[in-house]
Amino acid sequence: MSRFDPHPTRRPAIVTGASAGIGEATARVLAAAGHPVVLGARRVDRCQAVVDAIVAAGGEAAAAFVDVTDGSSVAEFAAAAEAAVGPIEILVANAGDTALGTGVDTAPEDFAQQVAVNFLGAQALIASVVPGMVTRQRGDVVVISSDIVREPRPGMAPYMSAKWGLEGLARAMQMELEGSGVRASVVRPGPTMTEMGRGWNPDEFASAIDAWVKWGVARHDSFMRPEDVAQAVLAVVSVPRGAHITLLEIEPEGPVA
Ligand code: NDP
Repeated sequence: MSRFDPHPTRRPAIVTGASAGIGEATARVLAAAGHPVVLGARRVDRCQAVVDAIVAAGGEAAAAFVDVTDGSSVAEFAAAAEAAVGPIEILVANAGDTALGTGVDTAPEDFAQQVAVNFLGAQALIASVVPGMVTRQRGDVVVISSDIVREPRPGMAPYMSAKWGLEGLARAMQMELEGSGVRASVVRPGPTMTEMGRGWNPDEFASAIDAWVKWGVARHDSFMRPEDVAQAVLAVVSVPRGAHITLLEIEPEGPVA
């Protein structure tokens, strides 16, 4: 086995949080690139609708329920995914949720919920799937982080803490897995037009925006499309073996004057 061995032509993939937004777009883009893909989320009916569209277009896909905050659900999901498409080559830990809140005023159980969905769920999935990749000496793990790690935003302490933890995990894996043939990568999107934030209280959101402006982190109001981030994920997993994109940050292009 050489580190320059090409990827297999068939690379089964898992995408969590695939019922909406970036995860749904990533599943579609991976499938269009020829990868069988298993879509996981709690709203499995929405995943199934995406599966139907992928299959109608000639792709290979399956849907399965997962609640990433529940360890046994994650283990069952990983087993169902491998039963559906075979040993996993590409794992995209994308499921996430954002609640506004400060480090001081957020109730500990609410803080823990943000950490569970944005951070611990990814580790649970990694623990289920990556040992097989190590045995096979190949595979790609992509965690969907956020540009909040580079550019902290006040009013999002639980989410920010979770994403910092997630990137810490990815960095640890990059060291642990060096020489294993398994690549762990961070994709760090900026603002993207998805369902995220739709449930925010308008008053809390307005005061968060004021704080972001005060801290200089809301320079323009452009958003990316979920497909843009999906293309970034595809680029990361498609880079030939022998190279490794460890971190890819993608931002909305500024408005053209
Ligand atoms: P959406 O709200 O559109 O999608 C979130 C997805 O996560 C849904 O499919 C949802 O599925 C899933 N999800 C939420 N909770 C759980 C859970 N407990 N178990 C399983 N799945 C869950 O948001 P985005 O597409 O924007 O978010 C995707 C990722 O991108 C997140 O990690 C987010 O932090 C990150 N990101 C987003 C940015 C943005 O501006 N939109 C910027 C930077 C990062 P369901 O509810 O059906 O379970």
